[in-house]
Amino acid sequence: MQLYNTLSAEERARLIDEAGKERLTLSFYAYAKIEDPKKFRDDLFIAWNALDALGRIYVAHEGINAQMSVPADNFEAFRETLEAYDFMKGIRLNVAVEQDNHSFLKLTIKVRNKIVADGLNDETFDVTNKGVHLRAKEFNSLLEDPNTIVVDFRNHYESEVGHFEGAITPDVENFRESLPIINEQLQDFKEDKNLLMYCTGGIRCEKASAYFKHQGFKNVFQLEGGIIEYTRQIKEEGIESKFIGKNFVFDHRLGERITDDIIAQCHQCGKPCDNHTNCANDACHLLFIQCDECKAAMENCCSTECQETIHLPWEEQVAKRKGLQVGNKVFRKGKSEALKFKKSGDLPDKPLAKAETKDIRQKIKVKKTLIGKAEHYYSKSKIAQFLIENNELAVGDKVLISGPTTGDQEITISQIFVNGVFSDTAKAGDQITFELPFRVRLSDKLYKILDSENA
Ligand SMILES: [Zn+2]
Ligand SMILES: [Zn+2]
Repeated sequence: MQLYNTLSAEERARLIDEAGKERLTLSFYAYAKIEDPKKFRDDLFIAWNALDALGRIYVAHEGINAQMSVPADNFEAFRETLEAYDFMKGIRLNVAVEQDNHSFLKLTIKVRNKIVADGLNDETFDVTNKGVHLRAKEFNSLLEDPNTIVVDFRNHYESEVGHFEGAITPDVENFRESLPIINEQLQDFKEDKNLLMYCTGGIRCEKASAYFKHQGFKNVFQLEGGIIEYTRQIKEEGIESKFIGKNFVFDHRLGERITDDIIAQCHQCGKPCDNHTNCANDACHLLFIQCDECKAAMENCCSTECQETIHLPWEEQVAKRKGLQVGNKVFRKGKSEALKFKKSGDLPDKPLAKAETKDIRQKIKVKKTLIGKAEHYYSKSKIAQFLIENNELAVGDKVLISGPTTGDQEITISQIFVNGVFSDTAKAGDQITFELPFRVRLSDKLYKILDSENA
């Protein structure tokens, strides 16, 4: 029985695109008593692999914590695999607001000591004595109460792009660190204030609320299902969002927009921006915020050193990396001297800018015709490859490249390679390549723009 991934991320991405089926990004967790986490892990792998479910999942004696991508068609079958366990009967699955078929490209289930690294000694307090769970509406009204202190239990790079108005946003790199800091900071408020806590999906608050009650806090409340479930409820029930900006997520999207407020800045130029990225230098991989202009100018690097490094021959890059600390680089602190505009700790509630609306009705109406699809992107040389399926394309034509991750990008074709040679035109069946400053995804569509007019 195969219990591990046999496909690379790239192969998987290609298969997903070829299948052309919608996938759902979702998360869930459950605390339980699991006798044999190793067996539990293997059983889940077999059941989920059969359903083409992907994701990053942690299991432990204390339960399960999962972030996943599941084919929409298999959603009910997937739910049944959970319902097979008593402790997951009727479990709430947090489905992401923005969907992306490539949110996860592998199925990774790991056995850990704990499902959340909280640094707590569970034997010393009653983990079942939790805070009161609040729905979005109740959370909002308690936020209005002057007697309330609201605390963000996420890390600095998460709260930087989005948080609840008036929240305390500890300058911490991980959850474990935040607990003693918050406890210390709120010493004098144990008796009479409402301690209102929230995190991304609710899991961090599950045990933290019990810990704070044990520490002597009398009125402890937690946002049920975290920001993800809050967002779903405000949309469904038409409630005002008291959360501003983006919800940071741990898949390759790195963030879901909740309101159009941009509260963060590009770490390099200071312009309002809340797009996280990872430094293109694999040896660095620093998580930081970078605007499109800086991304182009810096070639997606965090510093000039990294930019120099990516131009070295690969062997030299590898040699340079020797002796450097690798490890959990992806979310490595997210802090560097090179980043001038990084903000953490006390964060403002005032938006710096508004994100461009996605409302299609306000967009300029473009007459276009579908002519092909993206097949590949060569990141090093910044060359995109498309297959022309209908119509034809000529130098000087304006095209629109469109997809869920790429968005809508318009460019004018100045030079094309057709089946490997320079040519002025390409027709159906031709494989073409041309330079493109941004990455295209396999599912992206290529349109020829016939003419534009204001709607
Ligand atoms: Zn910038
Ligand atoms: Zn870097």
